[in-house]
Amino acid sequence: MINITIDGHVGSGKSTLAKELAKKIGFKVLDTGAIYRGFACAFKEEGNFKEVNEENVNLLVKNSTVEVFFEDELQHVVVNGIDYTSHLREEEISVLSAKISPFPPLREKVKYLQRNFAQKYNCVVEGRDIGTVVLPNADVKFFVTASEEVRAKRRFEQYKDKKDAPSFQEVLQDLKERDYRDEHRPIAPLKPAKDAIIVDSSNMTLPQTIDYCLSVIKDKVKI
Ligand code: C5P
Repeated sequence: MINITIDGHVGSGKSTLAKELAKKIGFKVLDTGAIYRGFACAFKEEGNFKEVNEENVNLLVKNSTVEVFFEDELQHVVVNGIDYTSHLREEEISVLSAKISPFPPLREKVKYLQRNFAQKYNCVVEGRDIGTVVLPNADVKFFVTASEEVRAKRRFEQYKDKKDAPSFQEVLQDLKERDYRDEHRPIAPLKPAKDAIIVDSSNMTLPQTIDYCLSVIKDKVKI
């Protein structure tokens, strides 16, 4: 199977890029952040957990089931039999997913699902540690980023018409905190794989970024 990985910072546009590239080359796409978000929803649902710590995350993960399926191109995430898809993008879940994601048993569980997926399909897999830890032998690896201000502005534009939308400063602060956590955790920190191609989209439009990545893919693999 051909595997393409896209890792990168919060708000770097990895999800959109992954979806567009997959569409163009007829591959499946896996949003791995959505899986951590699914576990964050389950953590919240559990209700008995007072704080995010190793013991509670391990309790959650032990004996849990996780499943990903696709309906009309929408990726669903089901944890312990509950489909959390409509809650994955909630702000509280964004923060909670970043807090629970460093704990090893959760990362192992998610890694298993990710590798199974990559063995079955030609796919684009996007996340934080895909090129470094999950699929170190992937055929093409991208690490996408943009300046903090550009990424915060893009996020702010997405939220701004929603009820209780955060201010630009709040979006920027949240993005910095999540990046810091992802980059400084001891296990599977966010960093480019040695053989990753760095794509800084600060001064690039989405179509330009897609075209650039497509040309790289066509250079490296037969599709
Ligand atoms: O990409 P997204 O923002 O949906 O990911 C939610 C959270 O899940 C991230 O903040 C990160 O902490 C975690 N994550 C991870 N490894 C991945 C994908 C996401 O740790 N491969």
